[in-house]
Amino acid sequence: MIGKVRSAVQALPAYRPGKAAEQAEAEHGITNAIKLASNENPFPPVPAVIESMTAAASQANRYCDHLAVQLRQSLARWIGLDTAQIAVGCGSVGLLQQLCLTYLEPGDNAVYPWRSFEAYPIYVQLVGAESVKTPLVNHAFDLDAVVDAVDNRTRLIFLATPNNPTGTAVATSAIDDLARRVRSDVIILVDEAYHEFVDPALGDPIELLAKHPNLVISRTFSKAYGLAGLRVGYMCAHPEIVTELDKSLIPFAVNGIAQAAALSAIDNRSAYEPLLAALLEERARVVAALVEDGWEVPPTEANFFYLPLGDATTSIYTQLERRGVVTRPFANEGIRVTIGNASENDRFLLALAELSSLV
Ligand SMILES: *Cc1c(COP(=O)(O)O)cnc(C)c1O
Repeated sequence: MIGKVRSAVQALPAYRPGKAAEQAEAEHGITNAIKLASNENPFPPVPAVIESMTAAASQANRYCDHLAVQLRQSLARWIGLDTAQIAVGCGSVGLLQQLCLTYLEPGDNAVYPWRSFEAYPIYVQLVGAESVKTPLVNHAFDLDAVVDAVDNRTRLIFLATPNNPTGTAVATSAIDDLARRVRSDVIILVDEAYHEFVDPALGDPIELLAKHPNLVISRTFSKAYGLAGLRVGYMCAHPEIVTELDKSLIPFAVNGIAQAAALSAIDNRSAYEPLLAALLEERARVVAALVEDGWEVPPTEANFFYLPLGDATTSIYTQLERRGVVTRPFANEGIRVTIGNASENDRFLLALAELSSLV
C-alpha cells in the first residue's frame, strides 16, 4: 500500500454507480439497452435552461461566485425562506458529506432506517462515526424504532422521503411528531431528493423549520429538473446550521454553469410542469400494470418503484439486463426501477412479463 490510508477509508467499499446502458450492451453483446438504474429524468433540461448553460459556458475562464448568492436568493424567494436559511452544494450528496463533516466525529452515531440511500453509511463511515440502522416495516419507515434507537451519542438522523430504494414516503405530520420526541440537539435530515414527485397531501416539511430549528431539508435539481449531470443541490435549515455547513463547502463546488442552469430552472419551472405530469402519469400506468400482473409494488411517491423479489432478485435483474433493461439490484432483496419515458417503460414491462416464472 502506498501511503497510510486512514482505517475508516480502508474499510470502505468502492462506490458503485448504476450500470451504464453501454456497459450492459458490451457485457451481453446486445444493442439499444436502456438504463433505468439511477433515477435520472428521461427528459433533457428544457431549452431555456440549456440556453442559460451555453451562455454561462463562455465565462468558464473565471471562477464563479463561491457561495452562489444569487441562486440562494432565488431559492429563498421561491420556497419562502430567508436567504440565510439556504445552503447550496455539489449535489445534495455533496451537502450530505458536509453535514457529516460538520456534526459527526468518532464516537458519535447517525440513526436511520435501512434499507435506505446508499450514500448514508459511506459518509458516516468516512468521518469515523457509526451507523445505527433500524429495520423497515412493509418497506416503509418505522419512526418509533428510529426514536428508540437514538442514544446520547446520536448527532444525526437521516430520513429519505420518499425513501430510496423503496419509494415510500413519510407525512410531514409524522416528521413533526418524530422531531418532538428526539433531543433538540440531534440534527434531523429530511432528504427530499424526490420532493417534486410527492403527493402534496402529505404536507411540506419546510413548514416545520420554524418549529424545529434542528431540522434540515435537502432537495436537488438532479431529479425533477433533469440536471443530475451538473451537481447542484440545496439544504434549507436554520441560519446557524447553514453558516456551519458553508465552512466545509469545497471552493466553487457549484460551478458557474450549474448555477446558471439552476437559476434558469427556477425561472422556467412552469416549463417543467408538463414533463413532471407525464412522469407521474407513467408512474401510475406502470405500477397499475405491475399490480394487475400480480407483482408486489410498495406504494411509491418517487420517480422510481421497488420490486421486493427476495431470492429471485439476481436472476430477474440479470434476465432483464440480457433483454437490454438495466435496473438497480439489491442482492436477495429486490430491484429498484426508474420511471423512464413511455417506450422505455413498455420495454421494461414486456421484459418483466417474460420472467414471472422465475419468482
Ligand atoms: C438521487 C438522490 C439524491 C441526490 O443526489 P444529488 O447529489 O443531488 O444528485 C439524494 N438523496 C437521495 C435519497 C437520492 O436518491
